[in-house]
Amino acid sequence: MSIQHSILQLTLGQRIDSIRNTIQELKVDNEVTLVAVSKTQPASLIAEAFQEGVTHFGENYLQEALTKQNTLKHLPIIWHFIGPIQSNKTALIAQQFDWVDSVDRQKIAQRLSEARLLSGKTPLSVCIQVNISHELSKSGVDEKELPQLAHCVSLCRGLQLRGLMAIPDPRLSDTELRMQFRKMKDWFDQLRQQYSSMDTLSMGMTQDYLMAISEGATQVRVGTGIFGVREK
Ligand SMILES: *Cc1c(COP(=O)(O)O)cnc(C)c1O
Repeated sequence: MSIQHSILQLTLGQRIDSIRNTIQELKVDNEVTLVAVSKTQPASLIAEAFQEGVTHFGENYLQEALTKQNTLKHLPIIWHFIGPIQSNKTALIAQQFDWVDSVDRQKIAQRLSEARLLSGKTPLSVCIQVNISHELSKSGVDEKELPQLAHCVSLCRGLQLRGLMAIPDPRLSDTELRMQFRKMKDWFDQLRQQYSSMDTLSMGMTQDYLMAISEGATQVRVGTGIFGVREK
C-alpha cells in the first residue's frame, strides 16, 4: 500500500506518533527535528499538530502563512519559511519567521539580514538551499558557489548560519538519491569546520526521510506524511 493510502486510515496524532517512532527506531546519534510542512493546510490542523507536540512548522507561500500565523499567534510555534523567496518579500519574511531554510543567493541573504536587524529581533536562523541535483529550473545555489554564499551569510549580522537544505530531484533512483544525500552530508561536515554555528542538515520529505536520516539529516520536512495528500 502506498504511503498516501496507508496514512488515510490514521488520525493526525497517530501519523505523528508513527513518524516519531520510525525515527526513534533508526537509533541515529544526532537529534532529528521534525518540521511539519503545513502549506495549503488550515490553521486548525496546525493547532491540532501543535497539541501533539510538534513545534516546528514549514510554510512556502507568504500570504497564506501570514494569515495562519495571525490566527495562531497565541501558540509558541517556530515558523520556517521553506519556499522560493522573491526579493520584495524579504522584509516580511525576516520579521515573521524564525527560520528561513531556502536562502540561495547573496542578495536575498543581505536583504533578510537588513530587515531582521531593523526588527530588533535576535538573528534569523538560516539554511542555505543547495541545488544538489543540478536541476535547471530548481531553486538552490549550485555547489560551486556554496562556499562563497556560506561566507556571505556568515558575515550578515542579522542572520545566523544554521546549515544546509536540499530537495533532490524526485526522479532519481534510490542509489542516486543516497549519493546526493551523502554529498550534502560531506558539504555539511566540511563547512561546519569553518562555521561553528552550523548544526542543521535539512533533508528528507515524506517519501525519503528515513534514507535522509540514515545519511545524516538532522531535520526532516514532512507534509503529506502528517497532514495527508494536499489538495491542488
Ligand atoms: C512541500 C514541501 C515539503 C513536504 O513535502 P511532502 O512530500 O508532502 O512531505 C518539504 N520541503 C519543501 C521545501 C516543500 O516545499
